[in-house]
This record gives sequence, C-alpha cells and structure tokens, in this order.
Amino acid sequence: MKIAVVGAGISGLSAAAFLKRSGHDVVIYEQFDTPRPLGSGLMLQPTGLAVLARLGLDKAAIGASSPILGIQGRVAGAERVIFDVSYRTLAPHLFGLGIHRGTLFSLLHDETNRQKIPVVTSVVVADATYDADNKPLLGDGKNRHGPFDLVINAQGMRSPLRQKFAEVKKDRMYPYAAVWGVCRDTAGAFKNHLYQRYQKARHMIGVMPVGKLNGDACESVAFFWSLRTHEYDLWREQGLQAWRRHVVALWPEVEALAGQFETLDDLSFATYGDVVLRSCCNHRMVSIGDAAHATSPQLGQGANMGLMDALVLDECLRQTEDVNAAIKTYAEKRKRHIGFYQTASHWLTPFFQSDASFHPILRDATFGLMCKLPYLGTEMVRTLAGVKTGLFTSMNPGTIHPDYDLSPDNSSKASRREFFPTP
Ligand SMILES: Cc1cc2nc3c(=O)[nH]c(=O)nc-3n(C[C@H](O)[C@H](O)[C@H](O)COP(=O)(O)OP(=O)(O)OC[C@H]3O[C@@H](n4cnc5c(N)ncnc54)[C@H](O)[C@@H]3O)c2cc1C
Repeated sequence: MKIAVVGAGISGLSAAAFLKRSGHDVVIYEQFDTPRPLGSGLMLQPTGLAVLARLGLDKAAIGASSPILGIQGRVAGAERVIFDVSYRTLAPHLFGLGIHRGTLFSLLHDETNRQKIPVVTSVVVADATYDADNKPLLGDGKNRHGPFDLVINAQGMRSPLRQKFAEVKKDRMYPYAAVWGVCRDTAGAFKNHLYQRYQKARHMIGVMPVGKLNGDACESVAFFWSLRTHEYDLWREQGLQAWRRHVVALWPEVEALAGQFETLDDLSFATYGDVVLRSCCNHRMVSIGDAAHATSPQLGQGANMGLMDALVLDECLRQTEDVNAAIKTYAEKRKRHIGFYQTASHWLTPFFQSDASFHPILRDATFGLMCKLPYLGTEMVRTLAGVKTGLFTSMNPGTIHPDYDLSPDNSSKASRREFFPTP
C-alpha cells in the first residue's frame, strides 16, 4: 500500500518504521525544515521498551539512557516520602528508562533513514480530501499530495487533521503547564529514579537521569518545573534569580542543577491537554499518538502509547488487505489501554498540578499508604509500567517481546537483565 504518515514525532517515525518493514511504500510529511524533537527528557516504560525491542532498538536505547527503578515523591520541606513505586514489585529485573528526547528521536529517525523512508519536510498538512477513487489526498494550502491507500495522522496534540476528520469528544487544554530543560548531575546525586517535590499541587519539581549525553563523562538529568499556563509571562518577568530562589527554597539539594540554567530560554515551555476521540478512524484515515489521545504527562505514558499504536496498527494491517477493516480492528484493539490511561491521567493530574486545596491534602494523607498496600501498591506500579488495560485488567509486555515477560516463571528474565543497574 501507499501510506502517508503525517508528523515525524515518536508515533509517526515508529509507525513508518514498522510499516516499511512490512513492505508498504511509506512517505513521511513533516512541517519542520528538519525533523527535530522538542523538550528535554521522558520516561519510557517497559511497554515502550518492548515495542522498541520489536524494532531492534531497545538495546541501543538502554545503552544511551539511564535505567529507572521507580518514582519517589516528597512534599517540599518534609522528609516523608508520599509516593514511592518501584518496578521491582512486578519483576526483579524490570526497569523503565530516563531518556533524552533527542536520543529516542535519533534512534527512530536513524531507523527510518536506514530503511530509506522519504521525509518530505516544510509541508504543513492542514487538510485532506478524497479523489475520484475515494482515496485520500493531503493538502498544505498550496499543493495536493497523494492519492494514498492510507493516511496516518501523527501530528501530535494540535493536529489540524484531527479537527477535520476524527470525531472529537474532548479537546481541552490543562490550566497547568511546565518548563523543562537538561543539566549535568556532576555530583551523581540523582540516580535511577524519577525524583519529585511537590508544593501543594501548585508547583512540582521533577529530576530524572537521562544518561550520558554526547560522550560526557557525567550523567545529565531532565529538570521539570510545573506552573500555571497563564503565569508563564510573569515567571519570565520575575527572572532567573527569583525562580532559582523559589526552587532552592522548595528543594535545596537541586541548587547545583538549577544554577546551571544561564537564562530562562534554556528551559522550554510545554502546555498539554486532554484529547479524547469518539472514533480515531475515517475512510482510509487513522489518527495515532497524541493526535488521537493526548493526556497530561503526569503518568509518563504518551510516548509509550504512541509506540504501542504504531506496533498494533502494523499488526492489524498485516492481517487483512481491507484497509478500513484493519483500522477499525486497530481502534478496537487499542481502546482499553488508551481509555485506561486517559481516565487515570485525567483523575490524577489535579493531585499534582492544580489550584485545588483538597486534592494535595488527600494525596499526602493516602498515597504513601496506598503504595505500601499489597494489592493497591502493585496496581500503582502496573499503572506506571504502562500495562493497565482497565481497572482490574492488565497486559504482559512479554506478549510484545519475550525479554519483557512478566509471567512468574519468567520473572528472572523480565527486562534486559544485562543492563540491570547495580543498586
Ligand atoms: C512536559 C512533558 C513531559 C512528558 N513526559 C513524558 C514521559 O515521561 N513519558 C512519555 O511517554 N511521554 C511523555 N510526554 C508525552 C510525549 O511527549 C508525547 O506523548 C509524545 O511526544 C507524542 O508523540 P507524537 O509523535 O504522537 O506527537 P509529537 O511528538 O507532537 O509529534 C508530532 C509531529 O508532527 C509534526 N506536525 C504537527 N503538525 C503538523 C502539520 N500540520 N503538518 C506536518 N507535520 C506536523 C510535528 O512537527 C511533530 O514532528 C510528555 C509531554 C510533555 C509535554
């Protein structure tokens, strides 16, 4: 089939890589002059790693990033850990990855280059129509591209194609956003965990190792600061020194990290929202990744879900030559996993990023205990690991790739043992 993938992000590049391997004629359209990632680091879950393993890229990803054993969150100024989840609860050698966006992007981009998938750049795809044979054509305001047997919309959260061709149930921005950047952990103080500090739910600081970048001898960390979207201009007006003082007052141990940002421009601004679709497919068109199901980054699942979308879409297209039947099956197969994380992100975000006063009180009183309870604690880790498909159901990433098998008889193998960090 002749397939157009619109958007060279994580979802689009991975979908193109899988589909080309399956023998399709794939072309990627990207709005930027040169495809590039935006933002600093992200957490890749075992599900996402298992998908990368199917592309033969997981070892390279692990080697160029930092293994993450779990998340530890504390209230600023208090010693008590209120959020403590560890992948080990599920399997002894299971871990996630703290990875720089550029690293993940380069791995996928190199793979699409290796497969000689053409990327048509500087094309802002804003529209699509159908030709006389009812095949989609893409429009960028000046030219028409196509026709194609299938168009995959991987344009991300602000997708114009979604607005026109998907049945949108919800498309709403969160009132909270984040600035994030990368700095060097010269003291080696932040290893193998995503560390968070909370000031009520008004501010959250996150620090996560993302590996040694560009041959550096010391590890870099992604630094994350959450703020209200409408306070961004005020944050800039108040300036770097005022922000540093605020950060250090909440978390003195990160002084050396925050001190490395020389200007506020060293931190990129990211807004986020919830996108829920009634249907992600139309005739010969399907939306994947953030274009179909953007969420807040609270649970660190967006990139993982985009990778899962890419794999499942390819599998469905392998099973039938009827494109519309394949994309309907795809939507059905992805419904429960996506639905769980959309709901979980929506309900959890106010506990960490909101003006609410009751939510952080409830969080501080109950989350620490919940992490320790046998059933609830395990379900929280499953949620983090990206394997939940419903309140009482989950999947085994071993069904994606055997190296990530969580079944008890295989638990010593779960995740790539040779990379497991020495505690
Ligand atoms: C602060 C923050 C932290 C996050 N942390 C995590 C995390 O820890 N773990 C995790 O899994 N996820 C995380 N996420 C979410 C993750 O970044 C996204 O889910 C993921 O990047 C979505 O990938 P995508 O390819 O679907 O979309 P995008 O990455 O948005 O890519 C879309 C691509 O389409 C292109 N495009 C857009 N419009 C057009 C157009 N009209 N024409 C042509 N091309 C177009 C864009 O230029 C871009 O290249 C985080 C997000 C944020 C904001």
